[in-house]
Amino acid sequence: MSYDVIIGLEVHVQLQTQTKIFCGCSTAFNPDHPNVQTCPVCLGLPGALPVLNRHGFQLAVKTALGLNCQIASFTKWDRKQYFYPDLPKGYQISQFDLPFSHDGHVDVETTSESGDKSIRRVRILRAHMEEDAGKNMHDESGRGRDSKVDLNRAGTPLVEIVTQPDLRSAEEARRFLEELKLLLTYLGVSDCNMQEGSLRCDANVNLHIHQPDGSRVATPIVEVKNLNSFRFTEQAILFEVQRQWDEFQRTGIKLGDKGGHKATRGYNPDRGETYILREKEEAADYRYFPDPDLVPVLVTETQLAAIRSEMCEPPAPRRERFHADYQLTPYDAAVIIDQGRLFADYFEAVAKTCGDGKQAANWITQDVLRETKQRDQSIAEFAIRPEVLGTLLGQINQKRITIKSAREVFGDLLTEFDETAAIPAASRIDEIVTTKGLAIVEDTGAIDAAITAVLGRNAKAVADFKEGNQKAIGALIGQVMREVKGADPQTVREKIIAAMQ
Ligand code: ZN
Ligand code: MN
Repeated sequence: MSYDVIIGLEVHVQLQTQTKIFCGCSTAFNPDHPNVQTCPVCLGLPGALPVLNRHGFQLAVKTALGLNCQIASFTKWDRKQYFYPDLPKGYQISQFDLPFSHDGHVDVETTSESGDKSIRRVRILRAHMEEDAGKNMHDESGRGRDSKVDLNRAGTPLVEIVTQPDLRSAEEARRFLEELKLLLTYLGVSDCNMQEGSLRCDANVNLHIHQPDGSRVATPIVEVKNLNSFRFTEQAILFEVQRQWDEFQRTGIKLGDKGGHKATRGYNPDRGETYILREKEEAADYRYFPDPDLVPVLVTETQLAAIRSEMCEPPAPRRERFHADYQLTPYDAAVIIDQGRLFADYFEAVAKTCGDGKQAANWITQDVLRETKQRDQSIAEFAIRPEVLGTLLGQINQKRITIKSAREVFGDLLTEFDETAAIPAASRIDEIVTTKGLAIVEDTGAIDAAITAVLGRNAKAVADFKEGNQKAIGALIGQVMREVKGADPQTVREKIIAAMQ
């Protein structure tokens, strides 16, 4: 018997607003000072009136457009009633039957075990907006008598993104989350800081098992709640797949059988296991009804166009364009785009200045990435600004300096920054090239003279080379290059071989 893994995700994303969704309280992460960012609205005091945060709604629309969703022209707010200590109103303001957006997709590239790349299109069922709840903090002494509630987070704007069950492995689920995080940070709608709970994931997992008689059966669906890291999501799904397979072989219980209800589980990262939270998950009755305190939202084509015009290019089309505009390999385009928007902007500025996308990509994916990693810097903090690197690489293209000399200048610019903390200007390049005599020497007379001198001093190396020891020429080239800085090594090599004939 074989099986398919069926996974759908629900992701809650905190939008990056200054203030909460229905009041003016700050959304800053402030766990050391609980309950200071509150007011009658987010405390749920009687008579308080919520007012929609316009900027928050615009960020939500941007998010949905990035997910290729349809935006509803009419959307409304609903009360989802349930009791929990971190929800003082007794209901959450959310969206029920008319979410502000629906029917989108995210394409995720995955690599199979055999190394084949493929694209999985993950359909987005809906994305709706809602307010976050507060946070319960339970006594960690284990005596269990000191639970506290922090309502600083209550009323933070969220977008809940619900996928269709289109993911087929734990790795695909992780890749989807990585691509989603990249998209949301590109669009500037969320910081996606998982430690601070800005992105939280629930995973619905079950198996479709192929029976020997050709029929297929499904195992009971399990929803693993509140996964707060990509790695935990992947691990929890891997565990669930194995657990459901073992259980099916042991009991034969299918979805819909007695004992085959949908269940809710948590994930314990220390044990690497999921554990049961609620066994028999009935369709919860939240008694949704339209919130009478809030007016519906109408979205016009003009407003949509305005939001679209403010959006940057999302990562997926930008990868395609880097491939088309700069002839980058899909691999290089992905490496650059996946470093984030500012990094990709840096690449484009360098490529435009030097006029050679491939050269720019080589330097940026190797030298720049290595230096920023070593220095633990973001690309915005990196001392060599894109116009400076672009100018330097342009000099290689124009055959004014060799790649080796350009590396020397690159290193010198960084050393100068380390010593002076001054961001180097492009004019420093010519100064260093002149001072160090790095300009490519076209004067073949100087090269010829150096070769004659070097060959005269190295009779043994010359003899070795003539006897077939190819390596002997390396030392000769090195000596000539030291005498004539900036000589093109390929030219020197050819001239030495000619001189020894
Ligand atoms: Zn408030
Ligand atoms: Mn929700």
